[in-house]
Amino acid sequence: MIPRQDTFRVIAAYGFDRLRERISERLAVNHATGCWEFSGTLVSGYGRIRVGTHDRVVTHRAAWIIANRRDPGELLVCHTCDNRRCCNPDHLWLGSALDNVRDMDAKGRCRRICYGRKSRKLSTNDAAAIRESTDPVPLVAARHGISESHAYNIRRGECWTAESAAKRRDARAASDLLKSSRFHDERK
Ligand SMILES: [Zn+2]
Repeated sequence: MIPRQDTFRVIAAYGFDRLRERISERLAVNHATGCWEFSGTLVSGYGRIRVGTHDRVVTHRAAWIIANRRDPGELLVCHTCDNRRCCNPDHLWLGSALDNVRDMDAKGRCRRICYGRKSRKLSTNDAAAIRESTDPVPLVAARHGISESHAYNIRRGECWTAESAAKRRDARAASDLLKSSRFHDERK
């Protein structure tokens, strides 16, 4: 996978028109929504396409770059339509990770962030993924439904160590009962 911030450079080297042709061949127009839906490889619902010998780019990001001929740098290419495979440039907008979270929030998704629970339960695998990811912390935090400060702490190795996991198991057993009633109303 090509890092997000390198996508423009890689596509420019490969050729904008050349990639546009290949993506276009795999698009189906959804006439009800106006979405241009990518029908090739999907990862977590987002299209992926090979550029060159073995690297892949995310198709909606590529579509935005091809349409605008501009480098979005660290910014995210977000969907107004919430259709992850959509590559219609009119449905794409450029935002920061924070914008993206606010947008999800405004659309009523991401309930675990806005409905009062500061942090959802993470698994050891989640914590490892957070530590190892090279994505910006706000994005990683949003993806896992936890606060940015929590994500920073995990990345710095200040929490979610093996010994803190054992402590947390004990604490969790005790608090589960309480939580189940206390958060009931907020999570509806
Ligand atoms: Zn769309």
